[in-house]
Parts: sequence; structure tokens; C-alpha cells
Amino acid sequence: MNQRLKCEDPDRTAGCTACRPVHSVDKTVDHVLQCRSPLQRGLLIERLSSFTATLREWKTAPNICQILLAAAHHWILTPWDDFEFHVPDNTPSLQLVLSAMKAQTEIGWGLMFRGFLSSDWRRIQDSFFAQRTGISGKLNTGQHWARRLVSWYFATFRIAWFQRNLDKHGAEEFGQQVILKAR
Ligand SMILES: [Zn+2]
Repeated sequence: MNQRLKCEDPDRTAGCTACRPVHSVDKTVDHVLQCRSPLQRGLLIERLSSFTATLREWKTAPNICQILLAAAHHWILTPWDDFEFHVPDNTPSLQLVLSAMKAQTEIGWGLMFRGFLSSDWRRIQDSFFAQRTGISGKLNTGQHWARRLVSWYFATFRIAWFQRNLDKHGAEEFGQQVILKAR
């Protein structure tokens, strides 16, 4: 008689080995970013601490820098609360900013780390570049800016993923796996 074997990730049933037993949780894709392992926290907090400088380097519209930073902080550090951000009434492009936040809430703020961004963010950036004299060129478009932002989220996820594997398998075994995969 054929028997189908159920293949289950032990992390899913036993919880995350990196932050157990304080936070015994299912290991999910989101948990890769939200794990309470001290090493992982340290790396991500360091990553977040340079996010504002990175956004400035890309000439991000000042009216959205704080929102993007707060949202990333929130998702990684306090994901169990709803994300709220007070946008001052005198914010440039207020309606577009509010629309971007509403759209991103519907998509899910955490999904930004998987590349799902509201197109309103790009529009805000396009309008910011159009209003600023002296900023032009193919690098200064909403589309290019959005691509950089998505790369930043992906790279942040990769940092968390590598640390997760180090926590789980140890440096030696994980290093061997990387070498084997590279062959
Ligand atoms: Zn964990």
C-alpha cells in the first residue's frame, strides 16, 4: 500500500530555534525579519540606523523619509500592532502621501520587504523630482528610485536570512552549504 509521507518543516511545529523559548513561534517568512535572536536584532537595527542616510542619498522626498523609516522599524520590531503614522497637514503632496499610506496598508506594510510597494510612492518621487530644479537625469526618476528601494528591502531580508541560517546551522555547516551550492 502506498503511503504518502507528510513533509513538515520542523521549525513550523517546534518553533524558531534561534529565539525559543522566549518567543516560541512558528517559523514563517515574516519571522525571518521578526526573529528575536539577539544577533539578528543587532544586524537589523544596524541596517535600519543607516536607512535615513540611504534614503537621502537617493534624494527621497523628505515628506516620505520618516514614513518609510517608521514603517520598516515597526514591521521588524513591533509587528503585532497596527502601523500608524501622523502625517502633518502641511506635508507637501498631502493627498498623495495619504493615498500611498492607505494603499500600502491594504497591500500590507510587511510586504514591502517582498517588493510589493504601492505605485503611489513612485508618483510622489516623480512629483518631487519634477518640482526640484537641478535634479534630472535617468537616475532621478520615480521608477529608478523605486527599484533602489525594492533592492534595499530585498537586501535587508537577505541579511536576516543569512543570520537565520547561521543561528540554525552554525557557521561551519552553513558555510559548507554555501560552498556546495556555489559549485
Ligand atoms: Zn526566531
